Amino acid sequence: MSNLDAGVQVRNPRTGLNDRPLEAPSHEELIALTSRLRANQKRWQDASPTHRAEVLLRWRDALIAHKDELAQALTEDTGRRTESSIEVQVSVDGLRRWAGQVVELLDEETIQQTTMPGVSVAPSIRPYPLVGIISPWNFPLLLALIDAIPALAAGCAVIIKPSEITPRFLAPLEKTLIDVPEIGEVVGLIEGAGETGAALIPLVDLVCFTGSVETGRIVAENAARNFIPASLELGGKDPAIVLPGANLDRAVPGILWGATANSGQSCLSIERVYIHESLHDEFVSRISPMASALGVNYPDLEGRGIGPMIAEDQIATIQSHLEDAYAKGAVATAGGELKILGGGAYLEPTILTNVNHSMKVMTEETFGPIIPVMKFTSDEEVLSLANDTIYGLSAAIFGDEERAKKLGRQIDAGAVSINDAALTGVMHEGEKQAFKLSGIGGSRMGKISIRRFYRRQSLLINSSTGRDPWWWPEG
Ligand code: ADP
Repeated sequence: MSNLDAGVQVRNPRTGLNDRPLEAPSHEELIALTSRLRANQKRWQDASPTHRAEVLLRWRDALIAHKDELAQALTEDTGRRTESSIEVQVSVDGLRRWAGQVVELLDEETIQQTTMPGVSVAPSIRPYPLVGIISPWNFPLLLALIDAIPALAAGCAVIIKPSEITPRFLAPLEKTLIDVPEIGEVVGLIEGAGETGAALIPLVDLVCFTGSVETGRIVAENAARNFIPASLELGGKDPAIVLPGANLDRAVPGILWGATANSGQSCLSIERVYIHESLHDEFVSRISPMASALGVNYPDLEGRGIGPMIAEDQIATIQSHLEDAYAKGAVATAGGELKILGGGAYLEPTILTNVNHSMKVMTEETFGPIIPVMKFTSDEEVLSLANDTIYGLSAAIFGDEERAKKLGRQIDAGAVSINDAALTGVMHEGEKQAFKLSGIGGSRMGKISIRRFYRRQSLLINSSTGRDPWWWPEG
C-alpha cells in the first residue's frame, strides 16, 4: 500500500526550509475512511436539527478549548500571528451562527396543500451523504470550516483535505473531534496534495473547492465526469473605488487593511484602487507612510507587520508583477521590493502609482500586499475599469452612499462593500455568489449557505378515495 502524494515535503514559510513530510493516506485508506464516514452519516442525518445544533455548539466549545493550539499551528503553517487568531475566532463565531440556523431547516418540511383537490406535498431535505472539501493555504482553518460547518448543519458527513502547504493545523483540529465524538464520527481529516484531491472526488457526493482557477477547472472536470456537483470559489482581482468627496479617514486605513491583511493572500483582497483625480495626491501621500509604518513581521513574529509569502510559488508571481509594472513606468511610493529575510520571502506593504491596465498588477491576480493606485475622472470610466477583469468576486466603493450604491449595482461581482473594504472577510451574513471566473455554485454566506448541501425530495400524497379524472376510463 503506497501513500498518495509520496515524497511531498511541507515548507516552513518563515525559514524557507522543507521541515516536515506530508502524510497522505493510501488509496485503500481513503476508501476505508470514506466508507466509514458514509456509514456514520445516516445517524447524523436522522438526528433532529435541534440535536445537530446542540452538537455543533459543543464543537464550538472544543474549538475554544483548543484555540491557542489551533492559532499556534496556523501560525506555523502561515508565518503570521494576528490573522491566525482572527481565523480561529471567525470559525468559532461561524459555528454559533450556523447552529442557530439549523432549526430553520424544519420549516422546509412543512406539508403544503396543492391546487389539485386531495393532493398534498410533503417536502423534505435530503443531505448529500458525503461532502469533500478541498481547501487552500491562505486561511487553512477558516476556508475548510466555511464549507464544513453548513454541510454538517445540513446533515452531511465531510472529509477535509487542506492544502499540502499548510497541514499543521489538522493535529489540534483532530483533538476537537476527539472531544466531541459525534462530530468525530462524521468528519474526516486527511493530508494530501493534488493526487489525494483527485482521488477523493470520485469517492464523495459533492465537492467544495477553494483555490486557483486553473485547479478549479480540473476539479470541476473531475466532478462532471463523476456527475457530482462542484461548488467552486476561485480567484479575484477586487477593485476599490474612491469617489470624489469620499472620507479619506475611512478610505485610507480601510483600503490598507483590505489589501494587506494576510499579506494580500486572500481571494477577496483589494488588488487595485481607482481614485478620483481630485483625491489622488492626498490619498497617495496619506497611505504611503501608513503602509511603510506597517512593515513586515520579521524578525518579530509577535510585533506589528504583515507576514511572509506562504506559498513558494507566490514569490515568482509577485516578482514578475513588480518587474512588469516597473518596466512599464510604475513608481513605488512605499515598499516595492521583495526581500528574503531569515529564509522567508517578505514584501513590505507596497503602494504603486502611475499604473494602467497594460500591467499584470492591474489585470492578473497578484495575491500579495501590493496596492496599485490609478486615477479616474468619471463614473462611466471607473465602472468600465472595475469590470475590466476575468474575475467577479467582490469590490469596494468609498464615497456618498447613494452614488456608491448606484455604482455598486453595476459592478459584476458578488459582494460590494460600501464605505468599507473586504467586509466579506469578517462578516458572513450577506448572501452572494461568485461572478465570472471567480467561481460557481450557491452562496457560501447567509442562511442560504446550508442549502448547497441538500437535495429536496417531495412525497406527493393523494388522499382522495375515488378515481383520478386523468386515468384511463373504466371498462
Ligand atoms: P492554491 O491554493 O495555490 O491556489 P491550488 O488551487 O492548486 O493552489 O490548490 C488548492 C487545493 O487544491 C489544494 O488543497 C490542493 O492540494 C488541491 N489540488 C491541487 N491539484 C488538485 C487536483 N488535480 N485535484 C484535486 N485537488 C487538487
